[in-house]
Amino acid sequence: MLVLFDIDGTLLLTGGLGRSVMQQAGLAMLGREVSIEALQFAGRLDPLILTDLLTLNGIEATEQSLHDMRTHYVDRMTAAIATSGRVSVLPGAHELVRAVGELPGVTLGVLTGNYAETGRAKLAAAGWPKDAFEISVWGDESPNRPHSRDQLPGVAIERCSAVRGEAIPGEKVVVIGDTVHDVACARAHGCRAVGVSTGNYPSASLSKAGADLVVESLVDTGRVVRQLEVWMAS
Ligand SMILES: [Mg+2]
Repeated sequence: MLVLFDIDGTLLLTGGLGRSVMQQAGLAMLGREVSIEALQFAGRLDPLILTDLLTLNGIEATEQSLHDMRTHYVDRMTAAIATSGRVSVLPGAHELVRAVGELPGVTLGVLTGNYAETGRAKLAAAGWPKDAFEISVWGDESPNRPHSRDQLPGVAIERCSAVRGEAIPGEKVVVIGDTVHDVACARAHGCRAVGVSTGNYPSASLSKAGADLVVESLVDTGRVVRQLEVWMAS
């Protein structure tokens, strides 16, 4: 079984760092204050957020402008993650990742809207070693355009199948995340979804989106692990 964790709002919080750094990155690139109030962050892919940032501020999002914006953002964000002390692990996250990783036959992964650089920096700041997750799928790895989270589980399944030398069916893949976008991307590939109502979306909306299990936090390690064992056996 492949178990894919979302990062922001699921494993850790960054205390609004993304929002403030995007403002700084916009200022650096455009030479003027940028408006970010209308930007939607939760559960979204970084390339989509940066595309919105450009267009909302009157800049056409081309391959070049997005590349430049990405550089401004990633450079500042990785530095801010390392030095700000604002990354905090969510309760139960380390314990659950450890417990799931110890289940026989489980491959651990992350599936996130972050670019690789910022995603890796966040995990490191939250105390996960580099090799804690064998499979990683980042926010700019959609094979088709436009970028969408719904494409990412397919990438994870391909990578995991290659590593394990066997095809992984969708029902043996679990996505654990805090937004309806995490749930939707799981459903798009016949994967199981565990919703965590740590803040961005209440339990009811995660259930309505089709989550197979909803928990209020990751503290109840036993409940999540028991459900994974049921799915592994089925
Ligand atoms: Mg999230």
